[in-house]
Amino acid sequence: MKLKKADVIVFAAHPDDAELGCGGSILKLSKEGKKVVIIDATQSELSTRGNIELRQKEAEDAAQVLKLHARENLNIHDGTISSNEEYIIKVVQQIRKWRPEIIIMPPQFERHPDHEEMHRLVRKAAFFSGLQKIETELEGEKQEPHRAKRMFCFMQTYDFQPNFYVDISDTLDEKVSAMKAFASQFHNPEKYQSDEPETFISRPGFLEMLESRARYFGEKIGVKYAEAFYSVEPIGIDSLSIFLKPNE
Ligand SMILES: [Zn+2]
Repeated sequence: MKLKKADVIVFAAHPDDAELGCGGSILKLSKEGKKVVIIDATQSELSTRGNIELRQKEAEDAAQVLKLHARENLNIHDGTISSNEEYIIKVVQQIRKWRPEIIIMPPQFERHPDHEEMHRLVRKAAFFSGLQKIETELEGEKQEPHRAKRMFCFMQTYDFQPNFYVDISDTLDEKVSAMKAFASQFHNPEKYQSDEPETFISRPGFLEMLESRARYFGEKIGVKYAEAFYSVEPIGIDSLSIFLKPNE
């Protein structure tokens, strides 16, 4: 039985997607001593603003803010994510390398088609990773099958009906710092100024929208700020007593 090397993997199409979708929840896990790994599929080389070198540096800075255990990149060309055999194997290799209990991924329906493709790619790989007859090697070593216990989707641009929320009241500020580390992508005039065209996410209003949404989700569960998730599989609980106070 191979030991797990990470508790959670967050797969994302582009560096900054994971921060945006679930940065607050990631930092909470890190602060609880859990090992979280972000695996970005591409270097986001088709982005209107910034360049690959800058984006790499920004991703490293954001990783520090979120106290990540590791951050990897699959080096798939931006705009070509799909669930072909080569890419499925790349993702299976990562799942079998890190052996996480939870896999987090982009949602099924999204504004950016790469996000949808990443969802399908990770869903397939997460399943095939558990199959004995899919054989993979990494750095010359044969890998053992592994299947995560849970698969969750974070929220990006489009809303979906969440089936649980995580309280991020204590980590929202650092989530915003992690996003602002991507100064070429989000509105951060102190760190990055250019005459490149403004994009959907570089508008000053984008971060405001994100905070408002976190506030709105927080209100639903009686806290200040929250992030919304969708569990691919139904979530069961042992007993309704988890909602009762212990006897005094
Ligand atoms: Zn993206």
